[in-house]
Amino acid sequence: MHEFSVVQSLLDLIEKNAYENNAKAVSKVIVKIGKMSGIEPHLLKIAFDTFKEKTICENAELEMIIQDVVARCEDCNKDFTVENNKFICPFCNDYNLKILDGEDMYLLQIELDV
Ligand SMILES: [Zn+2]
Repeated sequence: MHEFSVVQSLLDLIEKNAYENNAKAVSKVIVKIGKMSGIEPHLLKIAFDTFKEKTICENAELEMIIQDVVARCEDCNKDFTVENNKFICPFCNDYNLKILDGEDMYLLQIELDV
């Protein structure tokens, strides 16, 4: 499962961050998941709860913020949310779009117990 390797690198990153800040534990982890990132939130949650055992994140709560896909029309220069994978500008019906957000997943914030 793709989410398992994602969570492992996420935990590595959090652990590094926690040690740099002399934290005893991590109480909360907030990630942002783009709708086009290919990450299934419920699988990510399962993977997180599985792998957090015996790590600094053992008692951490995982919060997931789902990011819509935001695109900009290269023709009329307007930004909009892409709904139902309709990659077409709702203002001028052009297909010439640039994706601004919603393509990836990243660590937004962690709360540490120092
Ligand atoms: Zn447009």
